[in-house]
Amino acid sequence: MNVDLHCHTYFSDGKQTPEFLIQRAVDNNISHLAITDHDCTDALDLAAEIATELVIVNGVEVSCLWDETEVHVLGLLVDRDNQQLSTLLRAQQLSRWQRMQAMDKKLEALGTQGLLAYIERLGCVACSRSHAADFLVENKLCKSRQKAFKSHLGKRGKLYVGANWVGLAGAIEAINAAGGVAVLAHPSRYPMNAKKLTRLVEAFKAHGGEGLEGTYANIDPATQKQLRELAQANDLYLSAGSDFHDSAAQWTDIGKFPPLDRQAHARAIWLHPRWQALYPGV
Ligand code: AMP
Ligand code: MN
Ligand code: MN
Ligand code: MN
Repeated sequence: MNVDLHCHTYFSDGKQTPEFLIQRAVDNNISHLAITDHDCTDALDLAAEIATELVIVNGVEVSCLWDETEVHVLGLLVDRDNQQLSTLLRAQQLSRWQRMQAMDKKLEALGTQGLLAYIERLGCVACSRSHAADFLVENKLCKSRQKAFKSHLGKRGKLYVGANWVGLAGAIEAINAAGGVAVLAHPSRYPMNAKKLTRLVEAFKAHGGEGLEGTYANIDPATQKQLRELAQANDLYLSAGSDFHDSAAQWTDIGKFPPLDRQAHARAIWLHPRWQALYPGV
């Protein structure tokens, strides 16, 4: 068993196709790959059809709001035909498009046209600020994606528009309704101190969340330990994933992240009864 339970395709803000991810995962000896696009599950059917050498685990990464902070919840093992989940994802996709329209208006007022046409040409299902960053770089309005987030797309940026995300409870409820396991994505990457993170994890558990990501690209051992202890204190499983978006980005590759340590293995997500029911044996 060698898993990567967090990655993106061009159906959201990844750069590669499901075919590319699967080949890369096979090359990197992955046995179970969860594709977890932002607010859409459209890559999953195609992926399951073409994957012969590994298991495709259904997944999605839902953007949501908790205490005025944006947090991301992974839904693993979801039934993608579930009505409640598809309705939620459609609403999130619409919020993303409406936010892009509002950002386009702001950009036009600054003298640049074409953002919406650019996004439409990409053919993504869930558009994102990441795509807007590429547009700004390609049109030489910003020198890099990082700079685009700083000057234009981040909270204090010229084009910033908040998105109308679902609340944390609503996201977890829809994932559970679809038979999935809700996992709080990259808990150390939110703009909050340890005390607030503990509050977030407690709220996540109280609303029916079942896991935390316990390892991801570039995590340090102290953070891994902190997350394992949070999982222990709240009786949560631990998941593992690269958050791969782009093979040109040096810092991620499918399957490349520190392994869960021995103590964390005792609560690994693949021990969850719903995982074991689908993919028995470890
Ligand atoms: P959105 O979901 O539309 O809010 O867009 C956020 C996405 O943009 C994230 O999922 C990341 O892939 C990417 N992103 C966020 N912040 C940055 C940043 N500072 N630099 C580059 N990419 C970023
Ligand atoms: Mn992303
Ligand atoms: Mn995320
Ligand atoms: Mn992600």
